[in-house]
Amino acid sequence: MRRPRRDGITSQKTYGIRWMLFAYLAVFCGVILLLIWSSQSLLLNKLYSRIMLSRMDAAAGELAEISDAQDAQWGAKVISMNYQIGVAVFEVTDDELGSRLLWAGGEGGSVLSRLTNAEYAALFASAKENGGSETRTYSDQVSFTPPIEEEKTHTSMPDSSIKADMHRMVRVRLAEAPSGKPVAIFLDAALMPMGSAAGALQAEILILSLALVVGALCLAWVMSRRIVAPISRLTEKARRLAGGHGDISFAEKESYREIGELSATLDYAAAELSKVDRLQKELIANISHDLRTPLTMIIGYGEIMRDIEGENKPENVQVIIDEAKRLSSLVNDLLQLSRYQAGCEELSLSAYDLADDLRETSTRYARMLGGQGFSFVLRAEEALPIRADRARILQVIYNLINNAVNYAGNSREITVVGSRTQDGYARVEIVDQGEGIAPEHLPDIWQRYYKVDAQHKRSVVGSGLGLSIVRGILELHHARYGVESKLGEGSCFWFELPIS
Ligand code: ADP
Repeated sequence: MRRPRRDGITSQKTYGIRWMLFAYLAVFCGVILLLIWSSQSLLLNKLYSRIMLSRMDAAAGELAEISDAQDAQWGAKVISMNYQIGVAVFEVTDDELGSRLLWAGGEGGSVLSRLTNAEYAALFASAKENGGSETRTYSDQVSFTPPIEEEKTHTSMPDSSIKADMHRMVRVRLAEAPSGKPVAIFLDAALMPMGSAAGALQAEILILSLALVVGALCLAWVMSRRIVAPISRLTEKARRLAGGHGDISFAEKESYREIGELSATLDYAAAELSKVDRLQKELIANISHDLRTPLTMIIGYGEIMRDIEGENKPENVQVIIDEAKRLSSLVNDLLQLSRYQAGCEELSLSAYDLADDLRETSTRYARMLGGQGFSFVLRAEEALPIRADRARILQVIYNLINNAVNYAGNSREITVVGSRTQDGYARVEIVDQGEGIAPEHLPDIWQRYYKVDAQHKRSVVGSGLGLSIVRGILELHHARYGVESKLGEGSCFWFELPIS
């Protein structure tokens, strides 16, 4: 089912859960039905003849018991009726089949009434050979002619005899009467379950099969609704999210665990998306402000120098140069960040002493900002040999010190620490006693565009890119990094690189 949509999302050419469920249940039903039908046609007949055989043997035992009793003929009738089988008992004299002693239930469809003497003799002979018993099955078509008086009522029928397929089983057992006289007992029964019983069984199986199919269809429908409906709802919401609607809640009230997890994940993604969206809007506002201010200054000073005589002074030119530099560093930051994010920035690694850079940088800052009341305290190891991209790590240190200066507040003391950790890393800490960062902002400050104070204060606050550039560089180096900060007490930004 390929459905192109307005938003350009095309659904894959695969089958939906609903159809898969139907298919699986159909296969399941098919297998069950096949099993039922095959067991009915194969097992039932086998089982039936097994049972019939044991019933015949039981009847033969009882017949042998009574065969020389006085009312034996009556007993044979009772046994024949009880077991619903035809019965014929012969005496055996000199190992030959003698005269018939008992006879019951051998009318109608019974094979016993249709066997010739020779056939009786043959069955007897093979029972002797087989060690006392023999079983044979007979299948043929038999006609039944109704009694005369019934025939009169059906005069319209040209031929009123009924034809039926007979499957019979005849069993011969050689036994001894209580008096010790040998007897041959012939028994005869229908091989197939009685027609009506078999029909009832088949009808029952048919109804069962139908119920199974209908039940399976209903089950597939209900299951597919329960499974598919929440997925469809989530898909629809996700599509709206993709279309730019930010305020979407994916939470499903009543659902199963997997859908609950999926909707929670989607909710999280939606929240992240709207956060990025908000940050991006803020960035555009900030950057345009950042770009506009130096540009206004440059244009303003340029015009003054052009229009007012005597204003073409080196101080004014310096303002233009400073603002142009600020502008170019902002553009550089943006370019660099986009390169980190595109993943196309490569490091040029070299072995050098990090402690040297820390010393040099803090001296330079002390010289530059000492006039503004800043003091820089350096506590560094003698040597911290590392292997890294020197220019980039220097950029990290500059960015962190710049932030410390920007957010130092009234306490203007900044400490730069270079130490060795116990597990062999060089650790750099830039510590200030400024305003600090609230715990709820800590996880976000490394994100690009993020500013704790959304109110833009250009004099102290940068573009919001500094820490994300720091993070980009440190992650390229696989460095460990972090921040500890307390609101009103100051912050400690740190990173660690392995000592080489
Ligand atoms: P910015 O250019 O705004 O300083 P950064 O990415 O360098 O952007 O920093 C992100 C935010 O983290 C800052 O807006 C500031 O709120 C907070 N921050 C960074 N360094 C410090 C610090 N040393 N003390 C207090 N807050 C800081």
